[in-house]
Amino acid sequence: MSLIGHVSLVGAGPGDPELLTRKALLRLRRADLVLYDALVDERVLALARRAQRFFVGKRAGRHALSQHEIHAVMIRAAKRGRRVVRLKGGDPFVFGRGGEEALALRHAGVPFDVVPGVTSAIAAPASVGIPLTHRGLASAFFVVSGHDRDVFAEAIGALRPNGVTIVVLMGFGRRAAIAGELLAAGWDRALPAAIVADGTLPRRQVWRGTLSDLADGGGLVAGDGPALIVIGKVAALDVAGVDGVNDALSAPTAVAARARRTR
Ligand code: SAH
Repeated sequence: MSLIGHVSLVGAGPGDPELLTRKALLRLRRADLVLYDALVDERVLALARRAQRFFVGKRAGRHALSQHEIHAVMIRAAKRGRRVVRLKGGDPFVFGRGGEEALALRHAGVPFDVVPGVTSAIAAPASVGIPLTHRGLASAFFVVSGHDRDVFAEAIGALRPNGVTIVVLMGFGRRAAIAGELLAAGWDRALPAAIVADGTLPRRQVWRGTLSDLADGGGLVAGDGPALIVIGKVAALDVAGVDGVNDALSAPTAVAARARRTR
């Protein structure tokens, strides 16, 4: 029998390295091995100073490793006594397959913990001044994957048209179709919509318009960073503040602080 290590399923946050949790920072500093996905910022990875780092995500539409292979690597490393961090963009349980990984680890008898992260579903809209449940405009928000047409259609079928804020992850490429599907389901053509790309980062982009603009092919944003769609009255709001620099708080992420000074 080998000495048993540990796996942490860690949320890396939505982009801005300062949105990492303290617990995530502690796990990264102690890690021997980090398995990371495409949306993880370089500056977050750099915090795992003593770890070997492996990219296991999807690049140019191809998976570096299958989900099953990722499970096998984590389990093997932990059984050799290593401290593994499985690092995912945003929160590991929001469209991150963290649940499957947790089950695989439990099944293999490997001790693990889950470190939640700040999800892009909330933080990216916030970073361009969109409060998802602004009082009087929306009393709920609904986070859905736009990747698959049938899954999306079934999910929105459960909603009363125009009743809640919808946040669509993994839907940018299908944005016109998604808007068309909502219109067909009775959503209002004039309902505000927004696209947020690279949310929380200095290079973030926002497009604002209506559901019918989106259906007509609108919503283009510069760059090729991750993007999400917000649909609902709150998408027209802009209550963004000014980035308040706090060097005491950002001390653990010295790289990020340096990057900010050169901006
Ligand atoms: N677990 C992640 C989501 C993974 S799905 C989380 O909690 O944030 C990946 C999708 O998230 C992308 O297709 C995009 O829609 C969205 N996304 C991730 N980071 C983003 C960012 N910084 N700005 C806008 N959308 C982002």
